[in-house]
Amino acid sequence: MQVWSSEFGALRLIERTVTTPEGRSFSLWDLHPDDARKLPPGAVRADISRQVFGLGGPVLFYVDRQRRCRTCGEDFVFRATEQRYWYETLRFMIDADAVHCARCRRQIRQGKARAAHHAEAVAAAHAHPDDAGAQLALAASTSALREHAGGGDIDAGIAAARRALRLKPSLVEALYHEGRLQAHAGRPAKTREALEAFLKRAEGLSRREVKTLVRAAQTWLERADIDDAASSPKSQDSKGPEPA
Ligand SMILES: [Zn+2]
Repeated sequence: MQVWSSEFGALRLIERTVTTPEGRSFSLWDLHPDDARKLPPGAVRADISRQVFGLGGPVLFYVDRQRRCRTCGEDFVFRATEQRYWYETLRFMIDADAVHCARCRRQIRQGKARAAHHAEAVAAAHAHPDDAGAQLALAASTSALREHAGGGDIDAGIAAARRALRLKPSLVEALYHEGRLQAHAGRPAKTREALEAFLKRAEGLSRREVKTLVRAAQTWLERADIDDAASSPKSQDSKGPEPA
């Protein structure tokens, strides 16, 4: 049998019996081995026995495909090797298409991971109210959530940071997380106050986590917008309920 592809010309097919990893056997038309040479450069031969068919398939070979990201609107290439990974290793249905660019896909994945991590942190902090580490983790996770996609209860995060520090005064990074959360709440004066207290108490500490946060805090304090906002009469410091 021969098929005509507008992209690749005439290709011969041979009938082949394939057995899927699940042990099902059936007959399919596969690309004639001699015609593999006719494939365009960069084309990747498919192993049709590994594909999961929906409405489409089998797909005999993969070529790079141009796509537009549904989220950011950027053009991207759904690479032939990536398609093989999707359909043969991850075993997505052959109809599944890439609708997001790699960057957006990574962000979506990280966002889901952050949300799951935060849910765990909230549960752990509630289950162990006297565990300084659990309180600190909740403060850190709330701040990470805010930084990226929003969500999370800022004041609960601040309360957790303060609780962590009360329970274990050596956990100075709690002040850093409070500072970040105050910034997200739009309270520049409290942001500065917490970050400066953090830098003061972090002096001379050699823990690596602390050193990383020290650099981040310094960068934040150098940002002019903290001061601009702090000196503005529209400062939100006096608004809203204050955390305990
Ligand atoms: Zn994108």
